[in-house]
Amino acid sequence: MTIGVVGAGQLGRMLALAGYPLGLEFLFLDPARDAPASQVAPALHGSFTDPKLLRRLARECEVLTFDWENISVEALRAHAAAAHGARICPPIAALTAAQDRVAEKRLFEQLGIPTTRWRAVGSRPQLERALREVGTPGVLKTRRLGYDGKGQVRVKAAEDANRGWEELGRVPLIYEEWVPFDCEVSIIGARSRSGATAIYPLNGNVHSHGILRLTRAPYGPPRWQRTAARHLQRCLTHFRYVGVLTIEFFVLHGRLIANEMAPRVHNSGHWTIEGCATSQFENHLRAILGLPLGSTRPLGFSAMLNLIGDIPPREGLLALEGLHLHDYGKPPRPGRKVGHCTVVEPTAARRDRRARGLLAKLAPGLRIP
Ligand code: AMP
Repeated sequence: MTIGVVGAGQLGRMLALAGYPLGLEFLFLDPARDAPASQVAPALHGSFTDPKLLRRLARECEVLTFDWENISVEALRAHAAAAHGARICPPIAALTAAQDRVAEKRLFEQLGIPTTRWRAVGSRPQLERALREVGTPGVLKTRRLGYDGKGQVRVKAAEDANRGWEELGRVPLIYEEWVPFDCEVSIIGARSRSGATAIYPLNGNVHSHGILRLTRAPYGPPRWQRTAARHLQRCLTHFRYVGVLTIEFFVLHGRLIANEMAPRVHNSGHWTIEGCATSQFENHLRAILGLPLGSTRPLGFSAMLNLIGDIPPREGLLALEGLHLHDYGKPPRPGRKVGHCTVVEPTAARRDRRARGLLAKLAPGLRIP
């Protein structure tokens, strides 16, 4: 059984590593020859829109999935489907909604999921109206192709908005209110072809410069978990979703406000590899293959820290008791996610102590409550 994956980044690499024990095989498609997943599995090298490669992927695989959402929906639909080969999971409709921040906001509103106040901005007059109606502070974001804080400009006053309009290249934007959140959380769940679902414990996330630095899970009171799971279930049902889906929220005065969704396995779920009965990667594979979903029971209290820029000396890291290191095999570059490490502890207090210790060592200056 071969799974075709469009994109061969670290998420794809961890999918393959989760699939091998189940006897699965993988074929990736990525323009980069040294992409993280192509170091552990066969890959086709070329553009995500190359008709020949997409058709080959669809012909040679039972199921097609993706580890990166900024891929061409049109190319995927036209060429992969034309090959009468693999099914595409998660559904293209979910990918389409997640690729456009405006479509995503409309979806949240349609499903009764609270989200930030926002306006679509396609011209300077629309920008001025958005500023008047939503107010400041806020943030301008490109509707498409933004990730890890890229394609965003914070707006403290109207002048910042004009600068942002120029800086972001006068492309279609969304303007949204700035939420002075108390914390950020995300929820991850899988829905299988049979309609069965499995939802993970809530993740508490700390970002720095728009990039995820730390996730702690399980996190927050049961009420947050219930609310987030209800919102996630609505999205899963709406799309008759198959695979893993993630929603990120701001928490303000105990209220969950949806920020965005990702139709894929997610960075805030990496802790599930060691910290849960079944990892998000394995459950994504189980879901898209129509296999029974695995338990999402946590095995303790986990902290996952992203390694950004370069991997610190391994000797120092691996000397830390119970630390699990994941090196994605990427060349170092400032601001790039090159690996992560996870610890699992028996209590939340011990987990938080370890998270603080790791932050002091690896991300000095970042404080957590
Ligand atoms: P995003 O790409 O939308 O996930 O944004 C990356 C990070 O920037 C978020 O996780 C937040 O930490 C911050 N951020 C984005 N939008 C807002 C907002 N409207 N209010 C407050 N913080 C935000």
